[in-house]
Amino acid sequence: MKTREVSAYIERREAGLVRDLQVMVRVPTVNPPGNDYRKLADWLAARCAGLGLEAVVHQVPEDVVRRAGLSLPRFNVLARWPVSGAPVVHFNAHYDVVPAAGQWRGGDPFAGEVHKGWLYGRGSGDMKGSIAALLMALEALRRTGRQPAFGVECSFTADEETGGELGAGHLVRQGLVKADYAVVCEGASGNRVGLGHNGVLWLEVEIEGKAAHASSPEQGHNAFEAMAELVWRLQEWKQHLQAPARRWRDPNGQDRWPTLNVGGVFGGGPGDKVNTVPARASFTIDRRVLPNETMPKVEEELRAALSRAAAPLHQVKVQVHTRLRIDPCMVAGNGVLPRAFARAVQQVRRRAATYSATRGFTDLHYFVAEGGLPGIGYGVRGEHAHGVDERVGVRELVQTAKVYAEFMERGI
Ligand SMILES: [Zn+2]
Repeated sequence: MKTREVSAYIERREAGLVRDLQVMVRVPTVNPPGNDYRKLADWLAARCAGLGLEAVVHQVPEDVVRRAGLSLPRFNVLARWPVSGAPVVHFNAHYDVVPAAGQWRGGDPFAGEVHKGWLYGRGSGDMKGSIAALLMALEALRRTGRQPAFGVECSFTADEETGGELGAGHLVRQGLVKADYAVVCEGASGNRVGLGHNGVLWLEVEIEGKAAHASSPEQGHNAFEAMAELVWRLQEWKQHLQAPARRWRDPNGQDRWPTLNVGGVFGGGPGDKVNTVPARASFTIDRRVLPNETMPKVEEELRAALSRAAAPLHQVKVQVHTRLRIDPCMVAGNGVLPRAFARAVQQVRRRAATYSATRGFTDLHYFVAEGGLPGIGYGVRGEHAHGVDERVGVRELVQTAKVYAEFMERGI
């Protein structure tokens, strides 16, 4: 019975939920480079304080930011609703968004316009929509005079779109997360509860040759041609990743194999000209790491493959740099957290809940692997994340807010 009151409150406040999301979409927290972080962090802290939570904005120390090669400041928000004697559940959401390009509906990707039941805008689905739903769940409990069944700790963090080191990673490593369980508000949606995600390894391969006039190419070492050869050999090696033994079955029963994307970014050097033998060439590799693999082994294997592919290229120097490592993450579905969350999902969505693991990566691994917490992923189901006309359904926002509220009321 009491659950219905909270649901009814959320239904009545649909317009407020939409407004919160519009406010957030209109602050273009684009990363890279990390624009307007302070502005949104302050708004989030004020919104939480308005709900009676203890809210603090943490600035990442400047020297840490500088060492990470970044120039704009980084902020994370922590907010708490303590409940004495109860366990604490941490809800995490990132507030940064990827850059927007292309032809958007209405022209402006940061307008947050609503059209036929959809709210459009960069970050509407990934993942400011989940933040709006979470804030509404907290508001609904507060305004109907209820206390959550567990202590609630929320973090709104920076930089997930570039790996999350100074966002969720920083909070976990600084010991600022003081919780027993973690819910990362993305990574699954609808009637699915996320138990994990793929990892990712980014490498950059640099080939250094020797420049010469194009009229006497024999006096140079062509870095581009060497790169082409190397990439060709890598394509052959890539077949190994399809071997049956590499297969991983996700919690939904679907088979998954490791993937390799070559040349997402590639280029030459500063002295490039049509009539110059290119002295420099580079390309990137994105290797998705399955939950049944480990990062050190994957990296070692890939670097060995690159060495073999480069071995016949005597005249150029090949260097491999690691740009990003994110571990895969997978928790068991029979733990108390996934089961409790699944019950809340089932209650609101009126369908049996199932478990899944996203192919992308989220910040969940920081909480699970480094924070040692049982964790799951769940948030709004948006469309066209990272693409043109990213959007989220207004009903979907409401339903997700109800799931969070139901979970908070029921407890673990
Ligand atoms: Zn995201």
